[in-house]
Amino acid sequence: MSDKLLQIEQRPPQGDWKDPKVEFRKGVFCYSALPKNLNYLGLPNARHWQPFDADWKLPPDWKRTILDGMKDRLNKYRSFRLFMDTCVRCGACADKCHFYIGSSDPKNMPVLRAELIRSVYRRYFTLTGRIFGALAGGRELTEDVIKEWFYYFYQCTECRRCSVFCPYGIDTAEITMIGRELLTLIGCNINWVLEPVANCFRTGNHLGIQPHGFKDSIDFAADELSEITGLPIEVPINHKGAEILFVMPSADYFGEPHYYTLLGYLMLFHEIGLDYTVSAFSSDGGNFGLFTSHEMMKRLNAKVYDEARRLGVKWILGGECGHMWRVMHQYMDTMNGPADFLEPPVSPVTGTVFENARSTKMVHICEFTADLIHHGKLKLDPSRNDKYKVTFHDSCNPARAMGLLEEPRYVLRNVCNNFHDMPENTIREQTFCCGSGSGLGTDENLEMRLRGGFPRANAVKYVKEKHGVNLLACICAIDKATLPALMDYWVGGVEVAGVHELLGNALVMTGEKERTTDLRGEPLVSEETIHA
Ligand code: SF4
Ligand code: SF4
Repeated sequence: MSDKLLQIEQRPPQGDWKDPKVEFRKGVFCYSALPKNLNYLGLPNARHWQPFDADWKLPPDWKRTILDGMKDRLNKYRSFRLFMDTCVRCGACADKCHFYIGSSDPKNMPVLRAELIRSVYRRYFTLTGRIFGALAGGRELTEDVIKEWFYYFYQCTECRRCSVFCPYGIDTAEITMIGRELLTLIGCNINWVLEPVANCFRTGNHLGIQPHGFKDSIDFAADELSEITGLPIEVPINHKGAEILFVMPSADYFGEPHYYTLLGYLMLFHEIGLDYTVSAFSSDGGNFGLFTSHEMMKRLNAKVYDEARRLGVKWILGGECGHMWRVMHQYMDTMNGPADFLEPPVSPVTGTVFENARSTKMVHICEFTADLIHHGKLKLDPSRNDKYKVTFHDSCNPARAMGLLEEPRYVLRNVCNNFHDMPENTIREQTFCCGSGSGLGTDENLEMRLRGGFPRANAVKYVKEKHGVNLLACICAIDKATLPALMDYWVGGVEVAGVHELLGNALVMTGEKERTTDLRGEPLVSEETIHA
């Protein structure tokens, strides 16, 4: 099958790009949201439908709803109006999108993806467009245009790679966000996004785990760690008066390989004697509202500050997640803050003041751990990770939305003896997306995920062939869920792990029993390492 996906035709298509007709072919689109989820969230036009249906059962006034929605957002978000007016079509972004590289579909070029909505903006919201229509680059808003928006705005992972290369700083991810938001106004969304959002409303996390289920999972992890280390490890839950609230993505206590990252955090907190708590109500920092609408993002995020206030903590520490940090770092403070009931974060171990978190009051676990290592507060044995040759995938959101570039690498270089970065134009700010972010990590669109993930996989293949890399480290829950399939398909023989899983392997804890296995229960030293 990989040969088939490698047939990427870089030829211009026949016909006019303005023709909005798209083919919803198996493997390249996501299924529609179920009515129960729209109903639960109070969203309009709940009904059974699928993208491949001829009749999408749009509400009778759908066109008015979309145009009114655009008008509202043009008035509300200056960036949206700026992005509609500014593009000079220089093409600098054109070949920067992983979906374009992997599919060669021109409408996956960021410039053209934005043009799908910009052409409607011109037709209805500019004087020349209203008078001259198509001659001024305008397009009529039709049902086919709605279908085309759905197709292409759910083939954008909102990764923002294109924006790095745009001389005007146009952020196509924000255009996609608005596009999805408009589609939601007429009941067009995907289930892989809305089901987690509905779960989050009900239970505080995307997986729909009840507070007692959360407690069971955390207690299980603590028991397992006590067995691995021989130390009495306990995890405070809903502990009022703790100094720090720790928030993580729900996948960390339910998914694999995420779970081993959780073990790594808990070992670290035990070893440094951190006065912290987790919350059974703010049990997910992840926020699929980001992929739905600004309003939804705000509603799902509110629980974080609410729980920090209820529990009376001083500041918040956050685990390894991608989009969670986009929301925490870029939106939380203005959406649900100011969090002036919290204090500027200070490490209780090193005394470091995290100035960068002065407004959000929330620190990334990699910043926290890097600071501990920098001050010599951890005893580490990197040889415990010697069976791995490690590279690092910069997850789009921590890299491009928060500039968290060096801290994870600093931690990795201290907990592993073999670390090799991928080529420069595929990492840090220029990192390539996993191809499955922004709620697209589902099975029905696997072909498009593998196409979109191709540039990332290609760079991993390069370091595998050059340096023998066999482990891809990352700090994003979606990456941990989706990169294993991408590696299996394009590369082979490369595992995926969180940075704090590797830290947990290397951490020498005070009074621990002799460790012969890693956090996965596998021998610390592989056969290959013994015979090397
Ligand atoms: S790089 Fe920016 S200005 Fe140039 S085509 Fe792309 S979005 Fe438009
Ligand atoms: S945000 Fe990412 S996925 Fe979307 S158009 Fe830009 S590069 Fe492509």
